[in-house]
Amino acid sequence: MVLFIFVDGLGINYRKENNPLFDEKLKFLNKVIFEDSVPLNAKMGVEGIPQSATGQASIFTGKNCAKILGYHKEGFPNERLKKILKKESIFQFLKGKNLKSTFANGFIVDDKEFLDNSRFVSATTYMTLSSLGIVRGLSKLNENKAVYQDITNETLITRDKMEKRYEKLFPRIKDYLDFNQLNSLKKISPQKAARNLLNIADEYDFTLFEYFLTDKAGHLGDYSRANKVLLKFQELFYTLLEEMDFNSDSLIMISDHGNIEDLSISKHTFNRVPFYIKGKNQKMFSKAEYIYDIIKIFKANIHKFYNLQL
Ligand SMILES: [Zn+2]
Repeated sequence: MVLFIFVDGLGINYRKENNPLFDEKLKFLNKVIFEDSVPLNAKMGVEGIPQSATGQASIFTGKNCAKILGYHKEGFPNERLKKILKKESIFQFLKGKNLKSTFANGFIVDDKEFLDNSRFVSATTYMTLSSLGIVRGLSKLNENKAVYQDITNETLITRDKMEKRYEKLFPRIKDYLDFNQLNSLKKISPQKAARNLLNIADEYDFTLFEYFLTDKAGHLGDYSRANKVLLKFQELFYTLLEEMDFNSDSLIMISDHGNIEDLSISKHTFNRVPFYIKGKNQKMFSKAEYIYDIIKIFKANIHKFYNLQL
């Protein structure tokens, strides 16, 4: 199986000032990023600051979507990007090979009609709905069969701020929310989240998990928040590395653009981003240069990952 971890807004910055990755407590993650990862180019030859919609669409299709659009698109994919994602996302590609993929993230509302009508659908949510037709909801979170985007469920439990934000973004959310499920959620440790993620991944050929609190913390420029967010991720990642069997499994981690690694600016950075892989096919990625190269190489070598007949 392949476990693909997408981290939003995590770049490589060698300067220590305003860089939470040089914190004493983050030595393990620092090593993962600075020593064990390949730095990838997120600018992709297109003017301007790298952004999420084009960056993520590029990562998940293996195509240079910033070049196709002619600019770096912020936030959520537009119709053009959606069309590319629908046809060429890794989920769609694997479906064509009869391989099973899943998005492990848990959603507060998993109603397809609600999500389809939302103006705020990320690249990952869009490609999940268009190819798999379903996302994991609150009941799955309660059954440990999904992992919330904050890893530990904390934001769903102490949810004052969350409710206000969601009501603003999704005015009809209350009609769709299952408050019984929401109120039954328990806080879990990052280690437990990692084990939940592995239990999901064991049932699929390809599992995606997305962590975007890194990008949020980067925009806020708050050092202690950034630290907390990275620490949680470090604990999750450490447990994955401890518990995966790399004779059969592959762990991939990648980001779409820099942000949290330089808290002196609230915008995204031009820094390169880390690409990490551990598993039997890791060597085939040694020449990867751009963020879209990973899925491009993965697609071209799919038979090596799943022992398919050519
Ligand atoms: Zn951002």
